[in-house]
Amino acid sequence: MIPKRSGARLPGRGRRSPAPSPMKSRPERGSAMIRAADSPPGTYSTAAALRTGLMVKCPACGGPGAVTADEERFYFRCERCRKVMEKPRAVSRRKVEGLCEGCGRFYRVHLPEETGGFPVLRAACPYCGHEMPGRVQKVPGGWYTVWGDIRNGREPWFGLELWFLSSYRGKQVWALDRAHLAWLIGYLGAGLRERPAVGYLGRMESDHLPAFMKTAKDRAGILKCLKRMQEK
Ligand SMILES: [Zn+2]
Ligand SMILES: [Zn+2]
Repeated sequence: MIPKRSGARLPGRGRRSPAPSPMKSRPERGSAMIRAADSPPGTYSTAAALRTGLMVKCPACGGPGAVTADEERFYFRCERCRKVMEKPRAVSRRKVEGLCEGCGRFYRVHLPEETGGFPVLRAACPYCGHEMPGRVQKVPGGWYTVWGDIRNGREPWFGLELWFLSSYRGKQVWALDRAHLAWLIGYLGAGLRERPAVGYLGRMESDHLPAFMKTAKDRAGILKCLKRMQEK
């Protein structure tokens, strides 16, 4: 789902970030098994969750449902009442791309049509969230957008509330799917928080976590909150 790098690159940047290869860059198996290793950013992105099913609450029956996507459409399917919705993917004809100043990876963001007209726009890196200005370029033939943000506990395509959504001290705590939830619990529950030995990456999955989820004083409460969600 991560777009392949094309020949078009921003001029004047000699540094080339190596292609992402999380398998190679993981620590040796023995040590990784004992500790809850961090994951490269993007492991639990919305784009990744769309492949297996991003868990949301059904608007008809309140039961669990999943949002998925293929080349042409987004789909919602309820596991309980079998409600189905679908929506064509918006075609984006403009993009911003380059090397991220935050994590050093090559990123490409396809822009919604309504942002038209500006030669330079601020875009957030899909891997680490770092915002930076980028030159807007035309995409020949258009491109289907897959990146999207969770806002106010809702996914961006149908606007449905996440299934794994709760709050702790007035702040939202959520997970995209069961695997993401399990990872959060393992990560926050581990006494030792180890970054994998990744040379080229400055930031890891845990850098996506809001600061309040990482503070020691709140960790126990948030963990309890996450574990309660696991029983859903
Ligand atoms: Zn339903
Ligand atoms: Zn980045």
